[in-house]
Amino acid sequence: MNKFKPDYILTMKDIIKEGDPILREITDEVSLPLAEDDKDTLACMMQFLKNSQDPVMSKKYNLRGGIGLSANQIGLNKRMFVMYFTDSDGKLYEECLINPKIISTSASMIYLPQSEGCLSVDRDVKGYVPRYERVKAKAFNIKGEEVTFRLKGFPAIVFQHELDHLNGKMFYDRINSENPFKLPENTEIKSL
Ligand code: ZN
Repeated sequence: MNKFKPDYILTMKDIIKEGDPILREITDEVSLPLAEDDKDTLACMMQFLKNSQDPVMSKKYNLRGGIGLSANQIGLNKRMFVMYFTDSDGKLYEECLINPKIISTSASMIYLPQSEGCLSVDRDVKGYVPRYERVKAKAFNIKGEEVTFRLKGFPAIVFQHELDHLNGKMFYDRINSENPFKLPENTEIKSL
């Protein structure tokens, strides 16, 4: 039984924290057409991100602000995640992505100067996380349609962070372990 019904309000107690083995698993493909349970879960996850960015709701439910959430972060071994944010051009990304796959990437890379954050990580992690500057990817949307899309810059970073979750990877795995501010060599890489 899926507890994530449309009226279920996800809060921080539902978010799996680092150290839990489910965050280290390679998640399973979601079967299509999408089951009603999976649709309900995605709706809950999206509402969580919206609530987390809403001053009233985030205060009421004591939520940390989030822009992306993967299914294994709420304990489900499924290849799906949601993203909700506005990029620097004011474009809204409100996406439920199922079985996402990268088709190709740029050679050039980028990183966030302030490092990355994660709802599953309750500590400040310093260091640069190299990401591809551009990705071409495909996924299924909540209607079960296959969509191909290109992302660049910040949206590409968010996508790669969430896709990493589905592959059992945490953002800090990509930080240089000897010097967290060391960038990959022989690679075109710049700060976002
Ligand atoms: Zn994360």
